[in-house]
Amino acid sequence: MATRRTEIPPTAGLPPRWRDLVPRAGASLVQHAAAFLGVESVQAECSGTAALVVALTTLHRISGRRVVVVPAYTCPLVALAVAHCGLQLRLCDLAPDGIDLDAAALAQACDRDVLAVVPTHLAGRVADVATAIAIARACGAFVIEDAAQAFGARSEGRAVGLDGDLGFFSLAVGKGLTTFEGGLLVTRDVDLRRELARTSRDRVPHRVSWELRRSLELLGYHALYRPSLLRHAYGAPLRRALRDGDPVRAVGDDFPARIPLHTLGRWRRAVGANAFARLPGFLADCERRAELRRSTLASIAGVEVIGDPVNARGTWPFLLLRLHDEARRDAVLARLWGAGLGVSRLFIHALPDYAYLRDVVGEWQVPNARAFAATTLTVSNSPWLDEPGFDAICALLE
Ligand SMILES: *Cc1c(COP(=O)(O)O)cnc(C)c1O
Repeated sequence: MATRRTEIPPTAGLPPRWRDLVPRAGASLVQHAAAFLGVESVQAECSGTAALVVALTTLHRISGRRVVVVPAYTCPLVALAVAHCGLQLRLCDLAPDGIDLDAAALAQACDRDVLAVVPTHLAGRVADVATAIAIARACGAFVIEDAAQAFGARSEGRAVGLDGDLGFFSLAVGKGLTTFEGGLLVTRDVDLRRELARTSRDRVPHRVSWELRRSLELLGYHALYRPSLLRHAYGAPLRRALRDGDPVRAVGDDFPARIPLHTLGRWRRAVGANAFARLPGFLADCERRAELRRSTLASIAGVEVIGDPVNARGTWPFLLLRLHDEARRDAVLARLWGAGLGVSRLFIHALPDYAYLRDVVGEWQVPNARAFAATTLTVSNSPWLDEPGFDAICALLE
């Protein structure tokens, strides 16, 4: 497929506006987020990963346990966060049919050493947190909801992230509302909230150089996040990585081992607060478009669109598709990945299969996670993916 002049981003980011950059009076970022989520207060950190580090550090101080159970298919940063805290990673395979932790495997993974279990709302989908809570409680472990990709997702009318002991969201580029990098930490437990704040106060420093860097990156994002310029910022490096046969670099799974830990600066918070007014409308718009496109995609033979349980309404940064087999998935990607249409992959591998994570993760038998990595692809739900673009994707899938 010929490369187009425009570049569709792989996820639906809330389009930035120049006037977001000018701080205004009004509710702060954390006030907006608390009201949006329906919780008393929210703690801001410099990334979703940093929020997880603060959470793990706090829980470890409370309980002393060391093992963290995470999905075998998730963001590599989750594994790096566990390692950063000096804790021990234990992988749990996915259920055969979707994003949830496999209940039997989770029960087997849970013992008296387990500090926390991390059910994950992958791809904006709403995960089965209730089952994870029941199994975790039985061994006295905490539950941390990884809602990094699901800011705005709801279950039974309530924001995800609040059923477990705590939850976190990402404000990174590509995950919706962004401060270039940022994270939000939530809990309904007042005592735990105080402990999380204490960890942040004691362990998270101001870092002028990091804040300056992130502020410049946020400015660059405002300048370049448009269809005509994204091919320089996103498309060209993507196609270079694909030409080099490096899919891990192509999706940006190649994270540095060191996790930056610093406060989220005042100006970037103000930018996030300004953008917040547009978020609910944007998410509703994404949901409408996803509902329509989802049924079109699902009507193609051999294509499954991962959805939500009844009573749950996830967010739709992209549509996560599962195909029958890896060969067909790869054939589709050979034509569409790099074509500028916003077709991509979620994480490339199950965690044990990243060469650069070998020392952190170790070897695990996780066949369902591996099959999931091998048969899924993503279709952007960006408003910039127009009907002709979407039709071209469907035609190729057919
Ligand atoms: C992005 C992501 C994280 C980490 O969030 P950052 O803000 O990028 O640090 C954690 N978990 C999942 C599932 C993610 O997608």
